[in-house]
Amino acid sequence: MGRKHDAVVAAEPVAVPSPAGEAPNSPKLKSEKKKKKHKNKDKHNQEQNGTASPKRKLDEIQPRNAAESDKGKKKKKKHKRDSEENVEETKAESVDGAGGGGGGGDESVTDGHVAVTGKNAGEAKYAPVKSFAGSGLPENVLECCKGFEKPSPIQSRAWPFLLDGRDLIGIAATGSGKTLAFGIPAVMHVLSKRKNKAVKGRNPLCLVLSPTRELAQQISDVMCDAGKSCGVESVCLYGGTSKGPQISSLKSGIDIVIGTPGRIQDLIEMGVCSLKDVSFVVLDEADRMLDMGFEQVVRSILGQTCSVRQMVMFSATWPLPVHQLAQEFMDPNPVKVVVGSEDLAANHDVMQIVEVLDDRARDNRLVALLEKYHKSQRNRVLIFVLYKMETTRVERMLQQGGWKVVSIHGDKAQHDRTKALSLFKNGSCPLMIATDVAARGLDIPDVEVVINYSFPLTTEDYVHRIGRTGRSGKKGVAHTFFTQQNKGLAGELVNVLREAGQIVPDALLKFGTHVKKKESKLYGAHFKEISADAPKSQKITFDNSDED
Ligand code: AMP
Repeated sequence: MGRKHDAVVAAEPVAVPSPAGEAPNSPKLKSEKKKKKHKNKDKHNQEQNGTASPKRKLDEIQPRNAAESDKGKKKKKKHKRDSEENVEETKAESVDGAGGGGGGGDESVTDGHVAVTGKNAGEAKYAPVKSFAGSGLPENVLECCKGFEKPSPIQSRAWPFLLDGRDLIGIAATGSGKTLAFGIPAVMHVLSKRKNKAVKGRNPLCLVLSPTRELAQQISDVMCDAGKSCGVESVCLYGGTSKGPQISSLKSGIDIVIGTPGRIQDLIEMGVCSLKDVSFVVLDEADRMLDMGFEQVVRSILGQTCSVRQMVMFSATWPLPVHQLAQEFMDPNPVKVVVGSEDLAANHDVMQIVEVLDDRARDNRLVALLEKYHKSQRNRVLIFVLYKMETTRVERMLQQGGWKVVSIHGDKAQHDRTKALSLFKNGSCPLMIATDVAARGLDIPDVEVVINYSFPLTTEDYVHRIGRTGRSGKKGVAHTFFTQQNKGLAGELVNVLREAGQIVPDALLKFGTHVKKKESKLYGAHFKEISADAPKSQKITFDNSDED
């Protein structure tokens, strides 16, 4: 008697947009005003760099603003790294003993643009892994990394903690290698648990939850690839497709389940998916997973897993309202690894152009922009809209104008969603319109331009959307329409533009630069800001009564 939860698994808003001014903001931006004067560099002459080396270097592509959150206030001391042969000396590294904090030993380690905070974070055993050869990981597990030169910064910092069984919050953009940052430890978790145990009819040991079906499939592809050289099997469970093959996979015995919450919950209720042995859980795009729409079902699913489990959360943005919630699910002392900035910040490889215009002028302007950005009709351009209906209308308008375009939104049959995405990815139709269902986590190569036809409901979503371009060290352009209706988000957008050194149009400034205090969807205006690495909080053990 599986209840349908799939409606929950949609990244689009289902209600009318919040009135201007009610949208949340990033509280950390409050301090922005007090900080240095911003210089708006003219980036509009930046050329798009299309070169790609055969071995990709991820650490070149995320130098956003160096993580400085804990700097300044605390006394720094040089941390001497263990000179294990497999770990290189980290240059310019500082370790802050934060003291207190849930049992003491909390440390903050800053290494270039990566900041690590958590209990004993500065210990030698948690030193960054600088090479695959020196990682200590078995060769067959590293088979999937063969095409890469070295571990990406998030992998380099997260692996030692995750392999040691620590709970971890990873803040890193999609495209930074975060899937393998949790994927390799997940495979290792399975291998260590399976040792000397029967493998037939096995229940899964790891669970990865994703807010969208497309992201789940993408993660599953990576996990299947990572597992095939070492016999670790994964299955992707997501809605909109037949349950039959998913049930068969589960019955044949599987190691890792990747999926969207709705379908997983359905299969649990049907009695065909047992998570009782799951002791390694990942919430990808964790802020979205803990968003109001997902919280109950996530809670319920976690209630089915082992009470003693390793919990991992990854996200590119980390708004304060989810910090407290995240704490409920984790060890009181999770390690936090931040690549780039924890503050709301856009990828600096993306040139952001914001155009303030009238609502009704957008159609003509969109066509003009496509003439400019998509003249060849060969380069990938992604247009974001807010609502499913809007997708259909804009798609029809463009098709009538002779543009070849596909679209993706939550009301489409999964088969059509998958087909549209693959046509866009393989270049058969390099123009796609999407709702925010495509804003998160998707690793689509070479998206040259993102056009925000409608501004999203939150600035976090804006950052996610424009993050679809400017990936793998390439430059990208994000052209955004901003209307009177969006004025409540003007202040936050101004801050994001300034932080990235982009031009702030006068017309945008006219809406004011006030940034409203963020409200928690769960705790409302009385929400108390607590950072993720704050001490206290108890790990909650779920039982069946948590099910809704
Ligand atoms: P993400 O979506 O963050 O998992 O990033 C995925 C992209 O990063 C894929 O294109 C991977 O091929 C690539 N990737 C993963 N690990 C590395 C690495 N160590 N070096 C270079 N690229 C990597």
